[in-house]
Amino acid sequence: MALPKIVVLGAGYGGLMTTVRLQKELNHHEAEVTLVNLNPYHYVTTKLHEPAAGTLPPDYARVDIASVLKQDKVQFIQDRVTKVDPENKEVSLAEGEPLKYDYLVFGLGSAPETFGIKGLLENAFFIRNLNGVRFIREHMEYMFAKYNALEEKRDDLLTIVVGGAGFTGIEYVGELVDRIPELCQEFDIPREKVRLINVEAAPTVLPGFDQELVDYAVEYLKERGVEFYINTPIEECTDDGVVLKGGEKIDAATVVWTGGVRGNPLLEEAGIETARGRVKVDEYLRVPGYEDFFVVGDSSLIFNDEGRPYPPTAQMATQQGQHLSKNLVSLLRGGSIEPYKFESKGTLASLGRGSAIGIAFGKKVVGSKASFLKRVNDWRWYYMIGGLSLMFKKAKL
Ligand code: FAD
Ligand code: NAD
Repeated sequence: MALPKIVVLGAGYGGLMTTVRLQKELNHHEAEVTLVNLNPYHYVTTKLHEPAAGTLPPDYARVDIASVLKQDKVQFIQDRVTKVDPENKEVSLAEGEPLKYDYLVFGLGSAPETFGIKGLLENAFFIRNLNGVRFIREHMEYMFAKYNALEEKRDDLLTIVVGGAGFTGIEYVGELVDRIPELCQEFDIPREKVRLINVEAAPTVLPGFDQELVDYAVEYLKERGVEFYINTPIEECTDDGVVLKGGEKIDAATVVWTGGVRGNPLLEEAGIETARGRVKVDEYLRVPGYEDFFVVGDSSLIFNDEGRPYPPTAQMATQQGQHLSKNLVSLLRGGSIEPYKFESKGTLASLGRGSAIGIAFGKKVVGSKASFLKRVNDWRWYYMIGGLSLMFKKAKL
């Protein structure tokens, strides 16, 4: 008899967590599990701001998928998913044959939210994946090298604009605060020549977050040379900078957009109803109307008890993966499934190597203590997917 087929799309926080838990819990004869991912490696999205700034080697945020999967339990396919067809229970791939499934787990992460802002997609950088952040880092270094190589001193070459002061923007600016002095030393450029500008549309940075912690972050970053433009939406991105609401132009050779995310477009393309690309999944993480189609991570949308959407986070994706794997095992064994409920463990945001802000165990934390807790979080993820050996290997980097 053919085994039930579980196909997991995406080896991010949600997809990889689901897969490693399935491989642990399922016996060989219970199901055929297939994981599809664009790259042969998992990248740790929550660390990408560091290689993007150049404060950490890209290898820290990269894990070979083969090293965490058991080949006799999970088949891995490296390919690009191009279409999901829930009516025919089929997934199309760019290179390989289409895959049939009995259960589908969609974990293809997010896409940048550009709000239709002119020129962003063409001219800005995005902190999205490993190749993208390698490119940002190389680009910045090239701009520093170019500044000195040209006879005419162009200030725009040393101007970096980060668009959006949400968690991604603030964490990236925090890394740049550490990195810029190193670049200045390497390229013989006085620090005061470099401008690091964080532009935010809302009246405050980190909108909605605890005000005391926001004030701490802003003060910390301002003291280290960050210029904040608050209440100032970016309205256009050109090949030589950004245009702000009101018409002011900032000439900048490096513009990094961290203005938000939306769900993966493949869901909308499959005809599924979404809100900013995210699917309002039911309490079992299923796409409404389908018993066999689950969404985890940034493409899923769930609400808290007050009816407000939870922000898409790695914490959420990880918990969903853990929960869904249990439900899938139960389904395969003829059991019942349990509703999913998010349990917040807090929020920590780094401000570079030595500092962070956040709420952990219900208490506010700042500085080196918060920074340490943030690192413990990273180690925990490595432990969950690859055990102690992976955790120690990464902790050494
Ligand atoms: P991802 O982890 O993004 O993984 C998606 C996977 O799908 C990737 O492997 C990708 O290659 C693959 N993929 C995409 N499209 C295709 C395709 N068509 N075919 C095949 N494969 C494909 N959250 C926190 O909780 N704490 C934090 O500290 C934190 N820090 C962050 C820092 C940064 C810089 C950023 C950008 C985000 C951070 N987040 C944090 C948010 C968190 O990273 C995301 O919520 C989380 O990664 C979502 O997990 P996911 O499984 O949905 O997608
Ligand atoms: P976000 O949506 O949280 O923040 C985007 C910011 O960009 C907002 O403050 C928004 O007001 C601003 N913005 C939007 N349009 C703009 C414009 N035209 N000009 C200037 N500013 C503009 O997006 P994010 O920071 O990429 O985070 C994405 C998700 O990942 C969130 O759910 C976040 O909680 C999560 N995340 C968590 C952490 C952490 O826990 N440490 C770190 C990074 C990201």
